[in-house]
Amino acid sequence: MKKEEQLTTKAYIKRYFQRICQSWSLVQGLTVTLRYFFQPSRIVTEQYPENKKTLKMHDRFRGRLEMIEDENGENKCTACSLCEKACLNGSINVLSTKNIAGKKVLGRYLYRLDTCTLCSLCVEACPFDAIRMNQDFELSRTTREAFEMILNKKEGRG
Ligand code: SF4
Ligand code: SF4
Repeated sequence: MKKEEQLTTKAYIKRYFQRICQSWSLVQGLTVTLRYFFQPSRIVTEQYPENKKTLKMHDRFRGRLEMIEDENGENKCTACSLCEKACLNGSINVLSTKNIAGKKVLGRYLYRLDTCTLCSLCVEACPFDAIRMNQDFELSRTTREAFEMILNKKEGRG
């Protein structure tokens, strides 16, 4: 009988300290809440879409593929097709044409966003730095056709 009482007391003490520990974790949680309440500048959670206009993705973020163009809409693509070969799932079609001098230049740079895995292998394969992954993170579209894009505004230079 005496042994049973001793066990009950032990269990009671154990439960007592367990409850204190549980309360302590609650206090810790509330401390974090209060800290961010009084110092909102330390909050790292993005308030999307309210901050849509000012939201900047990290530099290493990979959005969709785009062609790098200067202020006149000119690009550096030579239609060499190395990016097309590097793309494992056929998301790129480089259609070449010929300029007046008979030299091969870029005609249309076709890109399919719906099959692109944003792996960036095409960017790494391009020896002319003509393409890059941009910062666009809103990649949803309402039609299948909208996933098919022509990335160049102008035909390639000769
Ligand atoms: S990012 Fe990857 S999947 Fe997308 S077009 Fe480039 S190589 Fe293909
Ligand atoms: S984007 Fe680069 S790799 Fe692709 S065809 Fe143009 S120059 Fe070649």
